[in-house]
Amino acid sequence: MTAQIIDGKALSRQLREGFKTRVAALVEQGVTPGLAVILVGDNPASRVYVGNKVKACEECGVRSFHIALPDDTPQAEVLATIARLNADPAVHGILIQLPLPPHIDGRSVLEAISVHKDVDGFHLYNVGGLVVGNTIFPPCTPYGVQLLLDTTGTEVAGKNVVVVGASNIVGKPMALMLLQREATVTICHARTRDLAQHTILADILIVAAGRPGLIVPQMVKHGAIVIDVGINRLPDGKIVGDVDFNGVKEKASWITPVPGGVGPMTVTMLIENTLRSAERALRLRHADDYQEWEAPILKGA
Ligand code: NAP
Repeated sequence: MTAQIIDGKALSRQLREGFKTRVAALVEQGVTPGLAVILVGDNPASRVYVGNKVKACEECGVRSFHIALPDDTPQAEVLATIARLNADPAVHGILIQLPLPPHIDGRSVLEAISVHKDVDGFHLYNVGGLVVGNTIFPPCTPYGVQLLLDTTGTEVAGKNVVVVGASNIVGKPMALMLLQREATVTICHARTRDLAQHTILADILIVAAGRPGLIVPQMVKHGAIVIDVGINRLPDGKIVGDVDFNGVKEKASWITPVPGGVGPMTVTMLIENTLRSAERALRLRHADDYQEWEAPILKGA
């Protein structure tokens, strides 16, 4: 069996085309969606990620506010910047690029972002919402993976899903989202003994460990769907995922490439969350009923 490719680039392109119509409808009603991206310091990888996000905003007609702060910016100043953006009606989404310099407490900064503008979905309110299946903004990477999975036409309910990686931004929210969709979910991490004994049972295997070559064909069940979230730069400059793509594609039914799989979807879902926020802001402009903010959205409202 040779796996079919799950093309994240193509799906992203298609979704972004649809965004243009939504942006036009918003603009017609006097709302230009806006995303603020805060970068503290000069991490080269972070600069690239921020650049990609700003570019995607431009492509979709979303106004971007790029706030670059020096590496030694005091935490109080970062918090003051967030407070200003929270109060700015032109800003519908606020994202703080991680990692932050060591003198800044990441949690305090993430908690300072208004839950109504937390388009990365990292505020505790949104994390808690994910646990009970009722979040405002699903975190972008797992949200994108969910849509990629849906393109295969596979029913997730009842499937064995194994998530390799248990980070707060990918592995854990991924597992919660698929549990919400009634999969049987196993989460593996660096201390998992005999990783292969878990992965071999997966109907759907999602890998987000940041370890090139971690998943080899012997660890994969025939016909499994394999989603590779990993992005690793090899010494020769080549970008690879965590999965031995060439080997595993001979066993899987579907597989994501790296690059061109999950990566483009993460930025696309950030724009989706920003548009959703702007659309809600418009609906609530004259409404007193803020319960609307808490409407369940995971199942695609
Ligand atoms: P992270 O915070 O470093 O977390 C990595 C997770 O993998 C941890 O839970 C760790 O276990 C686990 N792990 C590490 N080595 C392992 C091993 N040998 N076996 C099993 N589990 C292992 O990383 P992250 O932020 O979640 O990112 C993971 C990867 O996804 C990275 O390559 C990153 O670049 C990529 N990524 C891609 C996108 C995208 O848009 N495509 C977005 C975000 C991240 P412990 O918890 O026990 O340490």
